[in-house]
Amino acid sequence: NKGILDKLKLRNGKLVKEERIVKAVNDISFDIDRGEVFSLVGESGCGKSTTARTVIKLIEPKGGIIKFKGNDITQFSSVEMLQYRKKIQMIFQDPFASLNPRQQIIDILAEPMLFHKVVHNLKEAKERALEILEKVGIRPEQAARYPHQFSGGQRQRIGIARALAVEPEFIIADEPVSALDVSIQAQILNLLIELKEEFNFSYLFIAHDLSVVKHISNNLGIMYLGKIVEKGSKQHIFNNPMHPYTKALFAAVPKLTGRNLMNSKEIEGEIPSPINLPAGCFFHERCPYAKPVCREEMPDEKEIEKDHFVLCHLY
Ligand code: SF4
Ligand code: MG
Repeated sequence: NKGILDKLKLRNGKLVKEERIVKAVNDISFDIDRGEVFSLVGESGCGKSTTARTVIKLIEPKGGIIKFKGNDITQFSSVEMLQYRKKIQMIFQDPFASLNPRQQIIDILAEPMLFHKVVHNLKEAKERALEILEKVGIRPEQAARYPHQFSGGQRQRIGIARALAVEPEFIIADEPVSALDVSIQAQILNLLIELKEEFNFSYLFIAHDLSVVKHISNNLGIMYLGKIVEKGSKQHIFNNPMHPYTKALFAAVPKLTGRNLMNSKEIEGEIPSPINLPAGCFFHERCPYAKPVCREEMPDEKEIEKDHFVLCHLY
């Protein structure tokens, strides 16, 4: 997926507009089975959110295919797109920004139910909204309140309830806990796991922190500068990480010992600009194992063991 970035530049004493192509996501592929959780993990700016937004078609892809139950969504008619939008829901990092501040939370849930016709009338929508709110831990007597009357964790529960309201099959969760206190994060993650088990839906889960996705994931893709550099099952990634970037991410995960957060190691070096991508492997400037070939050639994806893929010249 590419975006155009306009920048004004002074050239020969004149301001000129320079168009530059940014490849936010570049030739990636993954699949998610029913009832499974696929997590995309990487530092901010690596293209995780762009991938998520492309899957839900908030961003129009400039190429490639995105299939949902065998059908390419990039070819959908507007009617098919409407049906797809009901089956696929998104949970955002900042629930406050995505909840209408002027709506009572019961209406925040009832409205999409009526729009997508999962209920027959407003009365039924409100009854169903109360049931769903209870499922995520919001009591019926709180249903007439407005978003600002809830804590951050409760607001995320409301965001999750809204996603559930239209009976989706697939949920995209874009950093759903990273804005929350650490003490609340586990509660929300557990709620997401419980709901998945009850409804058997699939998740595309976006995170910048491996520890967050450890329990929820079946499979993971590690992203760096628009590419998936390693992909495999949870066991592959957590027990046998192969790519130097994945290893560096593990070294950067803060370890919780008792009540103290031990110092985590930062990954050294700057993330290169996606506008002037380096030649060769995009990670070579930061990689402790870089060889001469790494500065020249982008490695191909290799299957190191069954269903465990790595993009690195070391293998
Ligand atoms: Fe490091 Fe080279 Fe592998 Fe890139 S290809 S991660 S630079 S060893
Ligand atoms: Mg993001």
